[in-house]
Amino acid sequence: MSTDLLLHGGRVFRGLAGGFAEALLVRDGRVAAVGTAEEVEAAAPPGTRRLDLEGRVAIPAFNEAHMHLLPYGLGLSQVNLRAEQVRTLDEVLRRIGEAVKGAPKGAWILGRGYDHGALDIGRHPTATELDRVSPDNPVYIVRTCGHMGVANTAAMKAAGVGHNTPDPEGGAIERKGGALTGLFLERAKRLVIDAIPLPSEDHMVAAIEAAGHDLASRGFATASDMNVGMTAGLHEIAAYRRALAEDRLIQRMWQVLAGNPEGIAESAWNEGLRPDHTDDRLAWGAVKVFGDGSAGGLTAAFFDPYLESAGGGTGMFMFPDETMHRLLALYHRQGWQLDIHAIGDAAIEQVLVGMERAGEGDAPLAGRRHRIEHCGFLNAGQRARMKAHGIIPVPQPVFLYEFGDLYVRNLGPERSENAYPMRTWLEEGHHPAASSDSPVCTVDPFINLFTMLTRKTNRGTVLGAAEALTAEQAVHCYTWCGAHSQFAETRRGTLEPGMLADIAVLSRDIFAIDPEEVLTTEADLTLRGGVPIFDRHGALRSLAMA
Ligand SMILES: [Zn+2]
Repeated sequence: MSTDLLLHGGRVFRGLAGGFAEALLVRDGRVAAVGTAEEVEAAAPPGTRRLDLEGRVAIPAFNEAHMHLLPYGLGLSQVNLRAEQVRTLDEVLRRIGEAVKGAPKGAWILGRGYDHGALDIGRHPTATELDRVSPDNPVYIVRTCGHMGVANTAAMKAAGVGHNTPDPEGGAIERKGGALTGLFLERAKRLVIDAIPLPSEDHMVAAIEAAGHDLASRGFATASDMNVGMTAGLHEIAAYRRALAEDRLIQRMWQVLAGNPEGIAESAWNEGLRPDHTDDRLAWGAVKVFGDGSAGGLTAAFFDPYLESAGGGTGMFMFPDETMHRLLALYHRQGWQLDIHAIGDAAIEQVLVGMERAGEGDAPLAGRRHRIEHCGFLNAGQRARMKAHGIIPVPQPVFLYEFGDLYVRNLGPERSENAYPMRTWLEEGHHPAASSDSPVCTVDPFINLFTMLTRKTNRGTVLGAAEALTAEQAVHCYTWCGAHSQFAETRRGTLEPGMLADIAVLSRDIFAIDPEEVLTTEADLTLRGGVPIFDRHGALRSLAMA
């Protein structure tokens, strides 16, 4: 009996260039035929399994070009403080208190995703408040952006941080009246994080697998870990390799080594790891360095200051120019793709100059596809220089949905409306790879698509309607552009003959419905190379039995 699979009875989105087809045939993990129903039927041998889309749509599976898979997986077992569910200080403390009750004495309690702007108190919780529900267990909760967090007194004690501890370069320990509030910003977070016991390899592999199943249920066949080594150093590389060997790595992975001086890029290089973007399951392709912080947290670096009413200042560079430029030149010469975090225009400038200088010698920038991660607030001149050098913006449209109103408060309407200029990028010939930065934002691709279609925040504010995309463009940014940013657009990202059969069947035809309905659309079936990694209704199982 044939193992071919024929999709029919709905639309197939081949890609931005190819448009729509009526049917598609999968053979040996690849797209064997796509076109009209007759053309595809003619290519199908007797005994081909047939899946009726029943009016739904098949698209190239989503590619999560910038997320943190292992932290996302570990976070699935941490205390959830995200704003969808937690709006008051009392609720933060209640959830932490619950976790303390179930934990051994002295065990760390980790919480993830609070947003002080969404809390009733309108500020970060304090160490003293956390102490009320956890006098003995160390507690550390991380803001939704990942750039700052609050430790309780036991956690600061475990980290050896006292009121005399100096602020590290590129970070700050908040103090009020000389006393520690518990808030750690940017690189100061390391002081606390380094005191948290590392997860075991078993724990990490389980987290990678749990995150992978979660993503498969949302239509992703490719994901990424944008800062490998951030949690557990080189052990993370071992955990990913073991997950692959044990068939517990669900997506194709684009792996980016933590390249800050405290990261693992240097030690991994010394152990013999070399850039390779040809591996379609576990590609070690790039190195990441942080240029600045977040616009929501007032730590992204801008030329013009934040609004005085929001606190003013021009943000924070992680490194002086010389350090950043030295790191970029080093990793560029080693052959890595540079995936550099820069959100504000001043940080983008620092990174762009660094990339331009790195490419001046005998290793030009052409063909290297360096990326600026986030790349939220940039000017026309910077866009033109990126285009000229083939430097790719890797934006998170969903930032506008979750943080857009905070951007307006911090930066005013004009800069917020011009943020993450998706349509302008496409019109100018850029290939912006849409992504979520999860666990910073929800990994739900339909919220990200909705934001690209509407430019609406979660409070309904429209930011820069002229930058809205069509559904075809939005899916293109979430599929082909991701593959392109990983040197893989000749193998995945479209559903043309010969491409890997990475396919998502969605519960509705998102190209034909209201954007509001996109929000409640789901993935019904996800294939990676023709293999089902998620099957909501058991459709392929019942075909196999028939
Ligand atoms: Zn990130």
